[in-house]
Amino acid sequence: LTARPIGWGLVGASDIAGRHMVAAIRSQADSEVVAVASRSEQRAAEFATRNAIPHHYASPAGLLADPAVDAVYVSSDNRLHHEHVLACAAAGKPVLCEKPLALSVAAAAEMVAACEAAGVVLGTNHHLRSAPALQAMRRCVREGAVGEVLAARITHVTRLPEHLHRWRITEPEAGGGPLNDMGTHDFDALRFVLDDKVIEVTGMTANQDFARAGIEDQAMAILLFAGGAMATFHAAYNVGFGGSAFDVHGSAGSLLGRGVLSAAGGGTLWLRDATGEREVEHDAEKNAYEGAVAAFNAAVRGSGQPAATGVDGLRALAIASAVRESARRRRPVAPECGQE
Ligand code: NDP
Repeated sequence: LTARPIGWGLVGASDIAGRHMVAAIRSQADSEVVAVASRSEQRAAEFATRNAIPHHYASPAGLLADPAVDAVYVSSDNRLHHEHVLACAAAGKPVLCEKPLALSVAAAAEMVAACEAAGVVLGTNHHLRSAPALQAMRRCVREGAVGEVLAARITHVTRLPEHLHRWRITEPEAGGGPLNDMGTHDFDALRFVLDDKVIEVTGMTANQDFARAGIEDQAMAILLFAGGAMATFHAAYNVGFGGSAFDVHGSAGSLLGRGVLSAAGGGTLWLRDATGEREVEHDAEKNAYEGAVAAFNAAVRGSGQPAATGVDGLRALAIASAVRESARRRRPVAPECGQE
């Protein structure tokens, strides 16, 4: 790379790309959006026009051959992440991939290995690592504000918006459902804030007829961490008024987060201990997607790592897969792959 801005190519004319990531890439002085690829020529052209993107392609291959593309953001539907990331590795292009990294732990491990072998940066867009509220929670835990961590609760429920009532709830083979969708973010957020590894999960899922074709509407789990802490997890597509909550309970205090898992950041955080309850300051205006792009740009330029690496994406997926397996077998399951 030269001193010119990093040219990003988008694989996937997706809602998230148009809603958050184009603006996040453009918010950084050292990056710009140069191309978009879709399976549909018309969708690619419309997305490019709507977002003032100079080049568009009807396949990832065309985009990857474009010399203006220095880095790729993959936000295709979940079943395509594996194929698209392997294509980026083969083309020698750094890639920031959406979550879940893949549909199986084996496929995600293959993506991590391919990017390593090709010497390209792989990041997972667990953007909440760049959310000031979660960074404040991690800092409080590290600094001992809650004492020894004993338990956590993460709740991430929503009514899936109408315009997303497509592959997520109609095509089981596409890998939608709240466990892959919000769950992978939540497991990464727990790993990030508690700085601990999950060693066992007990999960349960329910299909209450919101999602079609046997995809879960809700998932719940209890997680056990190596350090001894436990956490409860709840994600849903059909619970419209619950919002998000993330609490960490320790021997000396509790952190209580409300709205801290919402898309672009924000939310409110309190610390309650023997001296009373006070709000923990954080920059609620700071956009988490922009932070994720900034860290990725720096990694592409050889400085540091993406906020969430490919391995972080693999580990979050391994926890989600263990919850699914536990729900299916009706017994506790240890996540596959090292969680160190
Ligand atoms: P979309 O359904 O909007 O996009 C996924 C793909 O669906 C697109 O790449 C596009 O395929 C196709 N598509 C888009 N619009 C239409 C349409 N109107 N009709 C038919 N097909 C369409 O999903 P999201 O943007 O919500 O999710 C994309 C990825 O991003 C997923 O992996 C998801 O998990 C992740 N995500 C991450 C978030 C985060 O906060 N990190 C938040 C939301 C999603 P094509 O490219 O071929 O045109």
